[in-house]
Parts: sequence; C-alpha cells; structure tokens
Amino acid sequence: STFSDLGVRKDFIKGLNELGIKKPTEIQEKTIPFLLEERTDFIGLAQTGTGKTAAFGLPILHQIKPNSDTIQALILSPTRELVQQIKKQLFKFTKYVDHKIFVEAVYGGEKIDRQIKNLQRTTHIVVATPGRLIDLIERGEIDLKNIKTLVLDEADEMLSMGFKLEINRILKYTSGERNTWLFSATMPDEIKKIVKNYMNINAKRVE
Ligand code: AMP
Repeated sequence: STFSDLGVRKDFIKGLNELGIKKPTEIQEKTIPFLLEERTDFIGLAQTGTGKTAAFGLPILHQIKPNSDTIQALILSPTRELVQQIKKQLFKFTKYVDHKIFVEAVYGGEKIDRQIKNLQRTTHIVVATPGRLIDLIERGEIDLKNIKTLVLDEADEMLSMGFKLEINRILKYTSGERNTWLFSATMPDEIKKIVKNYMNINAKRVE
C-alpha cells in the first residue's frame, strides 16, 4: 500500500517523499488508518527503527487545528536525543503544509528559560522528556488543558530510566478527554499498571 491508501494527506506525503519515505512500514500500515479514524486509546508494541515516529506522528499532525493557538498534543520520550529526533521528523513532515504547525521540544540539560520563552510563542505540539515537563508544569509555564492526545513513546525505556513518578503525575495532570497512545518494545508489569490505571479498557492493541 501507499501512504495515500492509508489516508495520509497529500501535503504531508510530499514532505515524507523528500525524506525518502515512500512505502509504509508494517507498524505504519497497522497504525495510521486506525488512528486517523478513531479517537481512542492505543497500545503499540514496537521497537525503535520501525518507523514508529511517523506511525503516531502523522495521525497527530492530522488532528492539529493550526488556527487554534493551543497545545493540542503532547509526546513524551525518554531522552533528549529522541525528543530532538521526533521534533525534527515532525518538522520535516510538515514542510509543505499551508498552515504551519508549530512543534516545540523541551528536555533537561538545556537552560529552561529559553524553553519557557519558546513556549510563549504559538505551540501546537510539545515533545518532552518527563522530568523537564514536570518542571515546566510546576512553574506554571505550560498549559496542557487542551491536549487531545498524549503519546508515551518508548514507555518501557522511560520507566527503566526512573520516570515512573513523573509519568504518573503527567497522566493525572492531563486527564480529561484526552486519548493516550502508548508505544513500547516490551510490556513489563509497570506498563500494564499504567494501562490499567490510566487507559481505556477497550484500547486498541497492535503488535
Ligand atoms: P523511527 O522508528 O520512527 O525512529 O524511524 C527510523 C528511521 O526510519 C527514520 O530515519 C525515519 O525517517 C525512517 N523511516 C520511517 N518510516 C519509513 C518508511 N516508511 N520508509 C523508509 N524509511 C522510513
């Protein structure tokens, strides 16, 4: 199949093609049509390097209302490098869109003041490491009440890095009508607990 068959918008496909992304990977085929159609919780068992970022990133980009000046999606990822990579990919996917979609990356190890300043500009999607995000929440510098989708990327990695408390706090803080999309290479008990406590019992599962 093609990205067009999966329902991906033409302007995004143009950006994908420029990156040499022409034929959907398996996880993209299984994930994209579903997430474009359904507003629901989602659990994807997937490793890195499988095209996971586009699998959740493209459906998120489809959801964003660029005319609304609010943060509409939050992506949590374990490390600064992964956060930067995700932001970079989303930026490239949107190269040919008419209404710009603004993605901001926040992570530890960089001055928080600059990130705070960046968040004061229009931001539609935030990609964050859990610790820095908590810091921004506590300072009252980030407004997450309009979040429609929360992605937990590499959830098992985030837990093994010790972000359990942070993740639980963020899940509580963003509760409401948002959907949660969880991606993980493994399903240890700690992940099952998160699924049980914070996700819909009918969440769609894909391997
Ligand atoms: P990810 O697993 O999302 O970190 O992606 C790993 C790498 O594969 C990235 O460099 C992507 O740009 C690339 N990629 C993602 N989807 C595809 C695809 N359908 N065809 C070729 N490369 C892809």
